[in-house]
Amino acid sequence: MTAARRYSQPVMLVADSPNFFAQEQHMNPDTPAHSASLRHDWSQEEVQALFGMPFNDLLFKAHQVHRQHFPPNQVQVSTLCSIKTGACPEDCAYCPQSVRFDTGLEREALLAVEEVVEQARTARDRGATRFCMGAAYRSPKAKQLEVICEMVRQVKALGMETCATVGMLSAEQAAQLRDSGLDYYNHNLDTSPEYYGEIITTRTYQDRLDTLEYVRAAGMKVCCGGIIGMGEEAVDRVRLLQTLANLPAHPESVPINQLVQVPGTPLFGTAPLDSLDFVRTIAVARILMPCSHVRLSAGRTEMSDETQALAFFAGANSIFYGDRLLTTDNPDQDHDRQLFARLGIEAEPAAAPVAETAATDRMAADARS
Ligand code: SF4
Repeated sequence: MTAARRYSQPVMLVADSPNFFAQEQHMNPDTPAHSASLRHDWSQEEVQALFGMPFNDLLFKAHQVHRQHFPPNQVQVSTLCSIKTGACPEDCAYCPQSVRFDTGLEREALLAVEEVVEQARTARDRGATRFCMGAAYRSPKAKQLEVICEMVRQVKALGMETCATVGMLSAEQAAQLRDSGLDYYNHNLDTSPEYYGEIITTRTYQDRLDTLEYVRAAGMKVCCGGIIGMGEEAVDRVRLLQTLANLPAHPESVPINQLVQVPGTPLFGTAPLDSLDFVRTIAVARILMPCSHVRLSAGRTEMSDETQALAFFAGANSIFYGDRLLTTDNPDQDHDRQLFARLGIEAEPAAAPVAETAATDRMAADARS
């Protein structure tokens, strides 16, 4: 059965919805009028209908939306650093960092602040404009959070945007991170509310929504997406994107991960994802959340250049750059530079000026050379 057929019920196209074209007028993403026009009331049927469109129609539509909200040939570049690795008490079935699975992963305690800052400086000099710090915690303890806040302060002082993903937060912890200067907090929904229990049992979907609410209430930007290829049904991808798009505010950053199968994790051996289904998911995310950066995250190593090119066309406009993600491989940096050059893509400049170096210009120049 083709992807289009699997997604094709019900048959009403969202293009038939009076609200659909309203969101496509050209708008400046920074204006209140723009955010007022974003929809947060997508029905399951509407999202399902988008997934069910013929591939070319869907990509054309997504690309139109993309061009109306972003420069079409710019991609935001982030680097991810694992600041504390492994020994996590949670049981996320995809994750080699869970203490419950024997994956041979080498554990590392929380890194020293100086080491993290050094890695951030290197990432900045190679062209990254945002530095994301990930720690394998269920939820950080007070002392750990103090160290993480100091990392944020010092990375921020390099002129980079900062992002952290360190587990569940209370409202007070979110405020503490905000006060240290954190720009983004990453906390993924992972999958649909219905499939979630198959993947994680040690925290609830509502726990995740609560953390997202605290982060938003503290005034930080939200990075929130999911993982596909975990054995979910097509309807779970529909429900994941519907849930993300119907949050009170769209996440500024929406990572769409493709499962990286790690031996020793329960999801190792899952049937591989059809790469066209991956591109479809990117395209629908772009249409539902037109002002958000949609990020190609984990799984790029397994993707062909052609799949990535299609994903950029479908509206992906952010990547992780660097040889490693938290614990899994990422395409090497030379390869990414070459791919950008082949596609005529440039790195998006940082939101705030990078203080000590024109790193973004350098990456663009490298890409052209
Ligand atoms: S995904 Fe995060 S919370 Fe889940 S096991 Fe891995 S490190 Fe822990």
